[in-house]
Amino acid sequence: MPQSHSTPSVPSGTAALADSLLVPTYARGPLVLEHGQGVWLFDEHGRRYLDFGAGIAVMALGHGDPEWLATVREQAGRLVHVSNLYHTQPQADLAARLVSHSFANRVFFTNSGTEATEAAFKLARRWARAVHGPPKHRILAFSGGFHGRTMGAVSATWKPAYREPFEPLLPGVDFAAFNDVDAARAAIGPETCAVIVEPVQGEGGILPATPAFLRTLREACDQQGALLIFDEVQCGLGRLGRLWAHEGTGVHPDIMTLAKPLAGGLPIGAALTTDRVAAAISPGEHGSTFAGGPLVTAAACTVFDRIRDPGFLAQVREVGQRLQEGLLALDNPHVTEVRGEGLFLGLELDQPVRPLIAAAQEKGLLLIAAGERVVRLCPPLVLTLEQAAEGLSILAACLRELD
Ligand code: PLP
Repeated sequence: MPQSHSTPSVPSGTAALADSLLVPTYARGPLVLEHGQGVWLFDEHGRRYLDFGAGIAVMALGHGDPEWLATVREQAGRLVHVSNLYHTQPQADLAARLVSHSFANRVFFTNSGTEATEAAFKLARRWARAVHGPPKHRILAFSGGFHGRTMGAVSATWKPAYREPFEPLLPGVDFAAFNDVDAARAAIGPETCAVIVEPVQGEGGILPATPAFLRTLREACDQQGALLIFDEVQCGLGRLGRLWAHEGTGVHPDIMTLAKPLAGGLPIGAALTTDRVAAAISPGEHGSTFAGGPLVTAAACTVFDRIRDPGFLAQVREVGQRLQEGLLALDNPHVTEVRGEGLFLGLELDQPVRPLIAAAQEKGLLLIAAGERVVRLCPPLVLTLEQAAEGLSILAACLRELD
């Protein structure tokens, strides 16, 4: 249902029309966004908003990045879609980039994060069946985890409200407590074919996995002959100020899923894996009409080259650090915890965050929630120190107004 706001952007014909026509899966307010520039979004009345949500951690280069735009314009004029019946240069170029900067040597492209999860599960099941036989099919996921909304991915997504209305789901999925090494060890058994975990949980509230937890998963997977899947759809690709979220933990997965920022706002996902796993799947056993098309992969090559630049990542770390210090210095009694890394920060309150998010929007700052009590700060990775300070000052003003 539309919320009521006192901003100049209330209620609009567009919002009312959309609400009357679309399947009601999104609880949206009346804000209608019309264009964007850098870290700024503009509504239909020309009012501007500092974008601290980046379309849910997608717009890493901000809106309308000139280099990204030039790539997209050039590629759109050259070739947009041919299907996966044929090769294209941008697809091969993107795969080469992903492989040469990761543990992986094979890539399967998808159109979204949830499809990357599906690809990871199908690769894992296919590999386990080929190598160990059908009983080895179970998938272990964790409390608080989010891996998508399609039937397979939602089966491994923790929140009961997302899963239960759609039962029966994918059989053979188990859950264990996140960051509990003993529970994980006990839950990974001979029938486990894969374990899926976010190195930093996003929807679950910006909760990092401990290095000890990730190491335990790796060891237990190796002991039981299971594959380890890292879901870096939200926390990967520069968001933490390093290319991969798992970098520096000493643990490598067998499969890693990516999506959100990879093509700068165009729909894309990927499941990266090794020759060992990829060898189990044959032509025709998985596929997609659109995935890895030349337009999105050309855009993604430009995004990837920008993000992996050490100077770019250093700026994410610096701005993220200053933003985090600013949040810690807020000294507001309603803030119970500040956590996260890089430009992936969570501000936990002692109360639901929806009213704060609505107040921030009125003052020109777009924020998103991660669960009921956590504000998720995931701005474009090109955010400057000045823009971080501007967002912080709006957030501070909104926090002061809480009862
Ligand atoms: N995995 C994680 C960690 C996510 O945060 C999300 C989306 O928020 C997904 C998977 C699903 O991605 P998509 O919404 O592109 O299907």
